[in-house]
Formats: sequence, structure tokens, C-alpha cells
Amino acid sequence: MTRPSSRRPLQALTFDLDDTLWDNQGVMALTEQGHYAWLDERLAEWLAARDESDLGRFAERLPIEAYQRRRRELAERHPLRRGDFTWIREQALCALLEEFGLPRAASWLWALAAMERFHALRLRVSPYPEVEPMLAELGRHYRLASITNGNLAFHRLALSRHFEVSIAAGEMHAPKPDPRCFLMALAKLGASPERAMHIGDSWQEDILPAVRLGMQAAWIAGDTPHGEAMPAGVHRLSHIRELPALLEKLGRE
Ligand SMILES: [Mg+2]
Repeated sequence: MTRPSSRRPLQALTFDLDDTLWDNQGVMALTEQGHYAWLDERLAEWLAARDESDLGRFAERLPIEAYQRRRRELAERHPLRRGDFTWIREQALCALLEEFGLPRAASWLWALAAMERFHALRLRVSPYPEVEPMLAELGRHYRLASITNGNLAFHRLALSRHFEVSIAAGEMHAPKPDPRCFLMALAKLGASPERAMHIGDSWQEDILPAVRLGMQAAWIAGDTPHGEAMPAGVHRLSHIRELPALLEKLGRE
């Protein structure tokens, strides 16, 4: 196996987003509940204004569990699009709104409006305080890309300006661990895998595919227990803030 010390200097860094640059759980839970509740409330007002309240309340007749079930069914029926979460949500919402009793055109408009709300809520992530200055500094030495399976509208976040390339892997129907999203990021950055490092929190979706391509990897493992030594080229970190020290150490080897 190649020893890290025999590797050539790194040129490019690719970053996972959710749970690597910020804690995603709270925002995701609020977004999931929030956009569905928003749809239920706004739709009730709209129907009342049109004297069509006899349809009842949307979320009472079709609670959020029905929406989640519909999304799972769509992902199973369309395996290629299973990672395209925006498409799945739009389709599921539209189908439920039609089932509720709205005409198809109105169902689409309400589904798209609810997804606007979804994206606004989804953007309320709080990057760890070290992330912004860290990316600004790393961008002076490395070419940077982001690769996410999530459907966050990343280009709307100020933080995205640090990345030359941002890949929404689910929307290109190649969610991690599919190697194609990594290869696309590297091709766009003009970097070869052996001179690149991927940084992410998921062993299965971030670390394994990166290592298989010959990239180095920094695993943001938090307090995940482990009893074994890391494979060659994999570096375990507790938090993203430890990345600059790791890169400095590798640069000295
Ligand atoms: Mg992640």
C-alpha cells in the first residue's frame, strides 16, 4: 500500500456539507415539519377565501406520515431518482394535493410554493464558526469543491463562494457513494484523485468511495467508537476544525 509520506502534495479538497460543515439534524427536522405545516395553513386560508373549506384540513386528512410514505414509494419506483430529493418531494406533494381534491394545476402551484418554503427553511444552517475563516485560508492553497447528497440550495449561502465547484450528487442521479460525483468534481477542478482529499462524516458515503478512487480522506468521526487503525490515506478527525492542522502535518511529511 502507498504510505502517505510517499504521496505528492495535495492540490484539491472536496467537502461533504451536511454534518461536516454544520450540524444538520435540527434544521432538517424543522424544515420537514415546517414546510408541511406552512402548506396546511396557507392552503386552509386560500380555500376559506374561495368558500371551499368543505375539503377539510389538508394535514388532518393527509398527515405528514402520508407524505413520508409517498416519498419512500416514489424512491422505490424510480430508483435512478432516489437521491433527487427535490423532485421526489415535489411529486409527492402534488400527488397528495390532488388526492386531497385540488385540480392538477393548483396542486402543482401549491407543491412548488411549499418547496420554496422548504428551501428557505433548509438554508437556516449554521456553519461551525471555524468554517468560514478556514475555507478562506484553504482556498489560498488548494482548489475547493463541495459534494453533497442533500438538496440544500447551497449557491444561496454566502459560504458557497469559497468553492470553485459545487456538486449536487442526488440531482445528477449519482449520489455518493457513486464514484461519478467525485470524478466530476475532480475533473472540474483539474485534479487527479491521488492529489486530492475528500472530507466528510459518513464512512460509507464519503470515506470508502474516496479511498477506492485513490483519494486521501479525512473522516469527521465525532465520537464514533472505533477499535482499528485507519486504512492508508484515511485520517480520523473529531471535528472539521482539526483539518488545517492535519493538512499542515501532511505537508511536512
Ligand atoms: Mg454528511
